[in-house]
Amino acid sequence: MTIRHHLSDPLLMAYSAGQLPEAFSLVVATHVSLCDECRARLGSFDAVGGAVIEEIDEISMGEEALQAALARIDGLPQATRAEPLKPAGIFPAPLADYVGGDLASVRWQRIGGGVKQAILPTGRDASARLLYIPAGTAVPDHGHRGMELTLVLQGAFADDDVRFGRGDIEIADENLEHTPVALAGEDCICLAATDAPLRFRGILPRLAQPLFRI
Ligand code: ZN
Ligand code: ZN
Repeated sequence: MTIRHHLSDPLLMAYSAGQLPEAFSLVVATHVSLCDECRARLGSFDAVGGAVIEEIDEISMGEEALQAALARIDGLPQATRAEPLKPAGIFPAPLADYVGGDLASVRWQRIGGGVKQAILPTGRDASARLLYIPAGTAVPDHGHRGMELTLVLQGAFADDDVRFGRGDIEIADENLEHTPVALAGEDCICLAATDAPLRFRGILPRLAQPLFRI
């Protein structure tokens, strides 16, 4: 499995800081369990966040203290995380825990054109659902007024000639109008999370402002 589309640094930072709505945390945890690259980046954010918080606790952050904190961060070993368990089915462990099993445990609801969805129980600030899209079928209009994360679990879809396969993440916001189409061959199953726009947009810029433009 080659993952080509990853989580952004702001999302990993927000996850590391425990700031994401539950639905987004589920998508991030599921991708990270499949993706060595994002797991390593998350490890760095966890280490930096922990070191900075420790330092702030001890002393006020003068210039010398800041330099000392940064020097210590440089010297930190890369945080390691337990290797993910290899799941028997298509759901990585964080998702399987959530659903209470693999595909057979999902209670699908038909939404037309052969497409099915299953809404997962999460906090109300964002929602998560599984989508089942028959091969060759366009993803129905799923309303994106805020941010949307889509993680492919089985099959693949194409969006504007870009291919997303198992493990890939598509990050979309309200400015993106798109019509993803499940590719021929295998039915596509995705985990998607969408938010109530104002809340989520408030969190990311605050966290990521010094480092990233979003
Ligand atoms: Zn990744
Ligand atoms: Zn979308």
